[in-house]
Order: sequence, then C-alpha cells, then structure tokens
Amino acid sequence: MTSHEIRRHFLDFFRSKDHLIVPSAPLVAKNDPTLMFNNSGMAQFKDFFLGNGTPPSKRVADTQKCLRVSGKHNDLEDVGFDTYHHTMFEMLGNWSFGDYFKKEAIEWAWELLTEVYKLPKDRLYVSVFQGDERDGVPFDQEAFDLWKPIVGEDRIIYGNKKDNFWEMGDTGPCGPCSEIHVDLRPQADVDQQPGKELVNADHPQVVEIWNLVFMQFNRKADGSLEPLPARHVDTGMGFERLCMAIQSKLSNYDTDVFTGTIRVIEELSGRSYDAKMKASDGTSDEEQRMTAVAMRVIADHIRAVSFAIADGLVPSNAKAGYVIRRILRRAIRYGYSYLNLTEPFMTKLVPTLAMQFADVFPELNAQRDFVATVIREEEIAFLRTLGTGLGRLDQIIGQLTSEGKATIPGDTVFELNDTFGFPADLTALIAREKGLTIDEEGFQKALAEQKARSRKDAASSAGDWIGVNDEGQASVFVGYDQTETTTRIV
Ligand code: ATP
Ligand code: MG
Ligand code: MG
Ligand code: MG
Repeated sequence: MTSHEIRRHFLDFFRSKDHLIVPSAPLVAKNDPTLMFNNSGMAQFKDFFLGNGTPPSKRVADTQKCLRVSGKHNDLEDVGFDTYHHTMFEMLGNWSFGDYFKKEAIEWAWELLTEVYKLPKDRLYVSVFQGDERDGVPFDQEAFDLWKPIVGEDRIIYGNKKDNFWEMGDTGPCGPCSEIHVDLRPQADVDQQPGKELVNADHPQVVEIWNLVFMQFNRKADGSLEPLPARHVDTGMGFERLCMAIQSKLSNYDTDVFTGTIRVIEELSGRSYDAKMKASDGTSDEEQRMTAVAMRVIADHIRAVSFAIADGLVPSNAKAGYVIRRILRRAIRYGYSYLNLTEPFMTKLVPTLAMQFADVFPELNAQRDFVATVIREEEIAFLRTLGTGLGRLDQIIGQLTSEGKATIPGDTVFELNDTFGFPADLTALIAREKGLTIDEEGFQKALAEQKARSRKDAASSAGDWIGVNDEGQASVFVGYDQTETTTRIV
C-alpha cells in the first residue's frame, strides 16, 4: 500500500462512518496566542471543546500538518537521531463533538488497523489510563472493558498520567486516553522479549501509532473534576509511523513518504543512505552513521521549512520566523559538515516534495518557485559565513578542551550568532558532538544587552507575516523582515 493509499483509506473509512472530511489547518497557528505552530490535530477544534462555536459536523476527520519544535511538544533534538520523531508530520484524526464516545472510537480504530490496513493483531498493544488517586482521576474501567474482548487482557498496558491523561490546561476539558502501539521487530526478537515490555521505552521498532483521547471531565479552578455535559473524542495517529508499520519498514525514512527526497539527497551528495551498501568502500561506521543522520535531518527539515513558508511564514529573526530559520540552518549545517554540500542544496529538494504532496497539500505546489527562492536566498546568506564560523567554533572548542573546560561561554555563543548567524541551538548541537555544552544563560544575557543597545537605534520591526492573497498564494516576496536583532550577515 502506498502512502497515498494509506491516507486515502483513512479518510474513506471515516467518511463511511459519517464523518465530514475537513482540510488541514495551516502549520502556523493563527488566532491562538498560546500556540506558535499547530502541533496536533485538535488544535483547530479547541474552541468546540470549550463550548465556543459550533463544529461543521458532529463527526469530523482529517490529516493535519503538525510541527513539534517549540513549547510543550519539542521533538527537534530527536529528529534524525531516532527514526520516528519528525519536526513536521501528518496527524490523521477523527473527532466526535458530543456524539459517539469510547465504544465507537475503540472499535473503529481496531477495525481500521486490522481489517483495512491488515496489521497483525499479535503485534498491537493498547494502553489504558491506570488512574491517579492523588489527582482524583479514576482508572479508565470503561476503556479497559471495551478493549479486553478485542485484544485480550495481556495486550493491555496501564499508562500513567503523563502518557495517558490529556488536559488542555490547568482548567477545562480533560480525560483519559488509550494509545495503540505496534511491535515491528523480527519474530526471533519478539519470541525473546514480549513487546509489551518495550512500549514507551524508546525502542525504534516498538512505537506508538495512535492516541485516542476521551474528553469526559472538566477541571475546575479548585482542581476538582466534574463530568462534562457533552463528551468528546479526539484521536491522532502519526501518518509516517503508520506507513512504516503497514509497509513493514525499519524506519519512517524507509517509507515512500521520504524515499523520494532521500534519493535526491543521495544524488546531490554522491553518498548512499544505506549503510550496508557502503560497508566496503572504506567509510567508517561513524561516518556512515552521521551520513544517515544528516540525510534524515535534511529529509525531515525540508518538509517543515517548505510547508511553513507555503503557509505564509518566512525565515526571520523573530518568533515563528526564527524557529523556521533555525530549522533550516540546522539542516544546512548537517549537509555541509557530513555530506560535503557546500552550495545551496535544500532549495533543490522543493520540486520533489511539491509534486509528492500536490494532491494532499496543494499549497506547496502552488508556490513551489516562491518557496524554493526563499530557501535559496537563506542558504546563500548562511553558507557565506558557515565555513568561517565552523572554523572559528573548532578553534574555540579546541582551546577550551585544552584548558580542560567543557562549557562554551555565553558571549562566545553570542559572537557566533551575531557574526556568523549561528543560532544558539546550532552551536549547542555542534558543542554536544564534541562533548561540550553552552552557557545558555550567559548567551541570553549577551543577547538582551545587544537588544537594549539596538532598541536605542529604534530599528523598525515587522511581523512574521507576508501577504497572502485569496488563492492562498504569497503575493510578493517582501524580503526578510527587519527586526531589532537583525544580524549583520542576513
Ligand atoms: P511519542 O510518545 O512517540 O513522542 P506522543 O505521545 O508525544 O508521541 P501524541 O501527542 O499522542 O504523541 O500524538 C498522537 C500521535 O502522533 C502519536 O501517537 C504518534 O503516532 C504521532 N506523533 C507524535 N509526535 C510525533 C513526531 N514528532 N513525529 C511523528 N509522529 C509523531
Ligand atoms: Mg512526544
Ligand atoms: Mg507518547
Ligand atoms: Mg501519545
């Protein structure tokens, strides 16, 4: 089954259960001061759970573009190093707004996974909320009773509050959830150790694919819970992980969601992603490992950056725009350091991506030239100083190491940022590869001092947004916005 078919089957399945299929909200959260990026399927429906506004239907399903690089959900550090966390990913979801509840949500999830997708039942585990006495939230007996005849008691895991209880905030709608995990290890390994023991243990082949949230309580200001008058269902399934499971791959990056992009990266770099194929050419294991990490980082980050730009955001030095710039620079540096890609290359990945998603998220294909141009400009600017900056950083690290120090001082981190455009997290990443850390606090202090200085110069600040016309097309490329912390190199 191709990834396109997998997505289509999800939407068709819920359409057949009377769900209205709605489009994804933009990657960049609008009208929500608490959220920079949409990081889950439910974000665009939040109001309906709070009782504000009326949903277009009581049953809704979609695939939502999500970005988890800031705030409560920040997976950036794992991306590339593990094989199942992305910055941007698609979350498939179905919702009930005061309509069906646990029984249907659980039975349909099982039906879809085992009958439509034909995932083997003996490789699936489910978790139910174990309860938390101190917090006054009970064990989810109802979910347990529904799952038991379906999967059997020995496939049920008891989850704690962190994994199995969802809350919108300190007050408001909340409730227990049931997660579905899949064990994709070879049979010999499964025979040796039950997958049940590896759930939520960061094993790359025993991963969570679907989370079913059952909103049934309202948390009041005094911390107590009361039943919600209308109960809701909110589910989210990681599309790329689902593809890995259905296509029996070892990693998300081996599915057809990513192989097209990885092939282009291989062509551009003249290196191979597959470690085994290169074993005889003298490349060391560590070199090959970092080659693969770099390719995964690039294949992941190009999606996040391209779709963010297509949704109206440009890399900048402030807020959401700066997050995008940091993601892009992280990828550029991986290409430079590990794949010897010293000319703009990210921009060349855009057409493949745009074609691949033309039917699903047409906004990228519609603006592919614009997106490619923004990325190319960004690459040119950063590559201009990257080599010199890396040399300088090497020198600094060498010096500190010889002095027996393990922390890069804050003002040095600031200098790298100011002169060479190295975001602090990029310096931290490179430092970590050499066993060092950065003085984050000192960096923030140096940054604040510079801001205070330049505020005096009264630099004008523009927002992160650029004009988007009615067709969702960016109207003009207005260049990078000027902000109070604009660095000299961009
Ligand atoms: P994990 O424990 O693996 O970090 P999560 O519990 O944080 O996942 P949820 O918030 O429950 O994830 O989101 C619903 C689903 O979205 C998950 O079951 C998973 O399949 C998928 N998902 C979550 N984070 C990512 C990510 N960074 N990249 C790809 N898929 C993800
Ligand atoms: Mg997570
Ligand atoms: Mg989890
Ligand atoms: Mg989860």
